[in-house]
Amino acid sequence: MNVMAKKEKRHWADLAGENVIREQGDKKEYCCASGITPSGTIHIGNFREIITTDLVVKALENKGKKVRFIYSWDDFDRFRKVPKNIPESFEEHIGMNLSDVPDPLKKEKSYALSFEKEMEDSIKDLGMDIEFIRQSEMYKKCVYAKDIKKALNEKDKAIPILNKYRKEPLPNDWMPLVVYCESCKKDSTNVLSYDGDYKVSYECECGFSNEVDFRKTGIVKLNWRLDWPMRQFFEKVDFEPAGKDHYAAGGSRPTTNQIIEAIWKREKVTDLIYEWIGIKGGKQFSSSAGNVTNVTDVLEVYEPEVVRFLFAGTRPKTEFGISFDLDVIKIYEDFDRLEAKYYAKEGDEKDKRTYELSCVNVPKKKPERIGFRHLTMLVQIYEGDVKKVSKDKLIQKRAGCAKNWLEKYAPDDFKFKIHEKVSKEVLKLLNGKQKESLKELIKVLDKKLDEQGLFNEFYEICEKFEIKNTEFFKGAYLALIGKEKGPRLASFILAIGKDKVKKLLKEIK
Ligand SMILES: [Zn+2]
Repeated sequence: MNVMAKKEKRHWADLAGENVIREQGDKKEYCCASGITPSGTIHIGNFREIITTDLVVKALENKGKKVRFIYSWDDFDRFRKVPKNIPESFEEHIGMNLSDVPDPLKKEKSYALSFEKEMEDSIKDLGMDIEFIRQSEMYKKCVYAKDIKKALNEKDKAIPILNKYRKEPLPNDWMPLVVYCESCKKDSTNVLSYDGDYKVSYECECGFSNEVDFRKTGIVKLNWRLDWPMRQFFEKVDFEPAGKDHYAAGGSRPTTNQIIEAIWKREKVTDLIYEWIGIKGGKQFSSSAGNVTNVTDVLEVYEPEVVRFLFAGTRPKTEFGISFDLDVIKIYEDFDRLEAKYYAKEGDEKDKRTYELSCVNVPKKKPERIGFRHLTMLVQIYEGDVKKVSKDKLIQKRAGCAKNWLEKYAPDDFKFKIHEKVSKEVLKLLNGKQKESLKELIKVLDKKLDEQGLFNEFYEICEKFEIKNTEFFKGAYLALIGKEKGPRLASFILAIGKDKVKKLLKEIK
């Protein structure tokens, strides 16, 4: 076996973890980073960055490494535009930093915090141990003063790197600094002078001007082209993934990689590019369109392990859609199959690691499961009461997902309600052969039969009454739920309960 073929059998997160060790050196402890500007609801597309980082964190931990996982809320960035699901009146806050804009829901201290908390709460069940860093706090506390000074004094090393990708070169007096006005809080300011140390003077469009010492007054922020490498240096980051948009020619990641080497004299942070994800069968998501699918929406339909499985089981460079349509059933089936293989010690190394990385905690023995498709049936038989489906908490949780899926996304032909009575309309629809064969079914139901046994009996009945299978099934579904199709009949009848089914069928005259 050659090396390449052997490599492909490994899990991508393990390979990424090994790449971090190779590039950053073999150390006891690593820092993995991720982050985003909370400019609105954090949608599921942004979640790929967090989970991708987490999977590499887990891979490093699996190698016995200690890992610090930091997530940066870039909430000292400016409020650029009002998302569609936010009142238009927020226009007046454009130009302020996101931590100074008020919360549209009036619950949290700021606009940024509102969306940050929403996301932090939503991922609690996903088994990620994250240290959140709010950049507004860091900058306002002047934590970066020393490195801001370094960046300003060595900006000449960054300018040629940035100019490589620019049509119009940056001016020599380019000042990579954003100043938020102390009076109007906006960034409509001009830097008038910098003393080469810590003092900056500025004037604002609002008429205000001042000189500040940025060791004491936290109103300045580095231009993001320098901000990113500065913070990677500050936190001693070893690994940080980024979306493919950041990797375009002249994108912020390639320049960050070069600037950190030029100014801070360290190796670039280890990269990993991830692709977009989309939504299949649900609302389209986009921060600006207003219809946003976030982690909470996904967790309504998928168990935490299955959410992790979606990402652990897909290489970061593969674009995919999170399904809200019928594929939900298949995804659960894939997960259950992987789990069964794991506990049966079948499957290869990659299967094993995919399962382990999907679990929040790997259970000691194989958990009891009921397939998602079957649960959609049980949930409807018990009219949405998941506690009647099972006493097992895990099964109840999955049943809750099935219930949500039925309510929000399932196609109509998936939904049914079991009749209390066989209506006159239904009786009119049944032909003679259907009625006779269903009466025969009452007798059959007196026998002790398992699902397969009952299934076999259906065919015996059809033969005896010379009725087509499809006609027989149609008749049964009409009697039970008033529809021509339904869940697999044998398991359906057993799940409803033979007595209830017999009672219904006895009404057929
Ligand atoms: Zn001002």
